[in-house]
Amino acid sequence: MAYDGEFMKEIDGLISGKIRRNESMARHTSMGVGGPADLFIEPESVDEVRKVINCLFEYAIPFIPVGNCTNLIVRDGGYRGAVVSLRRLEAMTVERKGEGNGFIYGEAGVSLSRIVERATRESLTGMEFCAGIPGSIGGAVRMNAGAYGSELKDVISEVGFIDENGMMNTKHRADLTFEYRNLVMKEGSIIVSAVFHLKKGRDEEIRRRVGEIISMRKSKHPMGYGNAGSVFKNPKDIPAGRIIDEVGLKGMRIGGAQVSEQHGNFIVNLGDATCMDILHLIEVITARVEKETGIVLEPEIKIIGDL
Ligand SMILES: Cc1cc2nc3c(=O)[nH]c(=O)nc-3n(C[C@H](O)[C@H](O)[C@H](O)COP(=O)(O)OP(=O)(O)OC[C@H]3O[C@@H](n4cnc5c(N)ncnc54)[C@H](O)[C@@H]3O)c2cc1C
Repeated sequence: MAYDGEFMKEIDGLISGKIRRNESMARHTSMGVGGPADLFIEPESVDEVRKVINCLFEYAIPFIPVGNCTNLIVRDGGYRGAVVSLRRLEAMTVERKGEGNGFIYGEAGVSLSRIVERATRESLTGMEFCAGIPGSIGGAVRMNAGAYGSELKDVISEVGFIDENGMMNTKHRADLTFEYRNLVMKEGSIIVSAVFHLKKGRDEEIRRRVGEIISMRKSKHPMGYGNAGSVFKNPKDIPAGRIIDEVGLKGMRIGGAQVSEQHGNFIVNLGDATCMDILHLIEVITARVEKETGIVLEPEIKIIGDL
């Protein structure tokens, strides 16, 4: 879509890097699918994010914040508006306060693997469950990412964000509402940083737990194919993957998309999948599971863009 020349001049001047036009989202999503985003913007500081967002608000351009795009698929028609990637916000610091407490501050683009690695090096415990989750802090906090019985809400101390009015804001844990795979936020808010409250732990125990989790992931999750992690939220009493397996859908294929043979709740891109293939597969799974079990599966992955 063509944008007003005035707007393009203004936004181009707001960031150090280049704004990409008609950027294929298949290049960015871990699933490897998605049509072009009109604009793909990668601010390099919190201040650049704030300026960009205010400009997008001013010109009423729709936008969506993204991190590593590991929980997100984009329809084949692409995204009309601006994809604002926070990946270049990479600052991280550690502060020790009082006996046995450690706080890690990270900007939105810091990967969970960097946080886990830093916490391990500092002998701080609490982040081990994030080992192997490929997201960024921004996406993971927004999704309240979790695994092996823990969620980010258990270690969050505060979240810095730009609110729906374009203003910098900070909220402490007590003022944040987390749900299963969701942090309740106003539409248009963008997380720019988070602080994690960790505890002093034993070096060898932290390393052992991280190693154990990475091995479990390697044995259970499909490696080598594009995917976006768990496609569906787990219903209360039974994992979605087991239900999908039990109704006989493991291995089912539509076009280049397949229900992983290794894990029923993963859809993999065999190489040439379109987003439409994936959406069809999601539809088939949802309908079959509801028909055979009465359970209505709800997608965990976020789906954006035009058909
Ligand atoms: C192999 C694999 C394994 C996975 N395992 C797990 C797991 O065990 N547990 C788990 O919970 N998830 C898992 N995931 C899913 C995913 O990695 C996590 O949800 C991750 O934390 C998302 O981070 P991201 O940076 O990729 O977010 P993105 O995919 O970029 O975005 C996800 C959502 O968050 C929003 N968002 C992104 N950044 C911001 C921001 N700065 N401010 C506001 N909103 C934002 C986006 O608009 C989108 O709605 C897995 C994925 C893969 C591919």
